[in-house]
Amino acid sequence: MLLASLTQITDQLRSSVAELDPERLSGPDADRLLQSFAEIERLASAGKLLAARRVESSNVWRRSGHRSAAAHVAEATGTGLGPAITALEAARHLGSLPATDEAVRQGKLSEAQVKEITGAAILQPDAEQSLVDTAGQQPLSVLKLRCRRVRAAGQDQQASYDAVRRSRYLRNWVEDSGAVRFDARLTPDEGARLLASVTAETERLVHEARRAGLDEPRRALAADALVSLAGGLASRGSVPGTDGPSADGTSDRGAVQVEGPSAVVHVRVDHAALMRGHVEGDELCEIPGIGPIPVEVARRLAVDSILNVLVTDGVDVTAVAHGGRTIPIALRRALAERDPECVVPGCTTRENLEIDHTIRFADGGKASLANLARLCHWHHYLKTYHGHLLERTERVGDGPSSVAWRWIAPDDPPVVPRHIRRTA
Ligand SMILES: [Zn+2]
Repeated sequence: MLLASLTQITDQLRSSVAELDPERLSGPDADRLLQSFAEIERLASAGKLLAARRVESSNVWRRSGHRSAAAHVAEATGTGLGPAITALEAARHLGSLPATDEAVRQGKLSEAQVKEITGAAILQPDAEQSLVDTAGQQPLSVLKLRCRRVRAAGQDQQASYDAVRRSRYLRNWVEDSGAVRFDARLTPDEGARLLASVTAETERLVHEARRAGLDEPRRALAADALVSLAGGLASRGSVPGTDGPSADGTSDRGAVQVEGPSAVVHVRVDHAALMRGHVEGDELCEIPGIGPIPVEVARRLAVDSILNVLVTDGVDVTAVAHGGRTIPIALRRALAERDPECVVPGCTTRENLEIDHTIRFADGGKASLANLARLCHWHHYLKTYHGHLLERTERVGDGPSSVAWRWIAPDDPPVVPRHIRRTA
């Protein structure tokens, strides 16, 4: 019965897609179509997961001569063995995660979201609902970050940190073309520190290239930055306390800096956890945008001049406000920490973010956390010159990205697509 109706739907879908002439669609129609196909895809992947679970438990895969259920699923779906293994794992966990199971059956979660949520919620079932809510409201990158946080809370932080530290490496190989390639695995703090230095040096090179009228892509200059840092050739351009750009792309006057490139890494840690030596309950100890680190590591970083530890002490950072147009350093830090990437939903730009007054300064908008958001250059431009609006919707929890935003294009109908609305 189900199979017969699915066959019918498949036939209909096939002929719809065969007849699809995208060039004849208006932009808004194409967008509606995109959302509709995305929903079909989510529902199909839900059905796939549920069916795969039964393929595994029924042992039907043995009859087809496969080594494992995952090998069978990989062949049937045309994916690799790795994705099939994680899909089966997610499918198995769904049985004990009712909120996720329901969202999956409603077609609200993509396969990538399901894998993230099940992997974390199975360790911390208390966090399940909030992760499902996050998936409905935030980009995948934020969901991944929260899942990482949840997984970390269920683990021995120091042990998992030590495991990463033990397995650190730097490998290199040479391509046929003669190009030298690298791959490295680093602990979060050491990785963040390296990235901050490279970003700061890249900034300097971008500035230099622009002045010389050269049109070099940022990624190429980042490679130059790495080479120049490794060779100790980085010019000592920035002096502590000067207005050099910081790792988060905004000017960070007065931040703790070392001689040379002005690399600043932020660490967010609750004061109580810092004093106690480990996190409890909802407390955080993490490098925003990278993930949790043991409190012991944060303590070590706190005395390291290149790192800037933001101690939160349960104080609502929204209380930080300032009357003038200039944005004080504490506010910049709180913003950098709350908005690790452009706040426009779906945009994941992390570099060279600009601070935007939601209500313009000229219209009485204050330089307060509530009225500021970090946007990428493109979205800042659209908002400033093309009538796009940024609207604060609701707070979904504490911590970074705790504010949800709605981006409204000038001709947008004032509705949020169904699949990103919060589940009641
Ligand atoms: Zn953006």
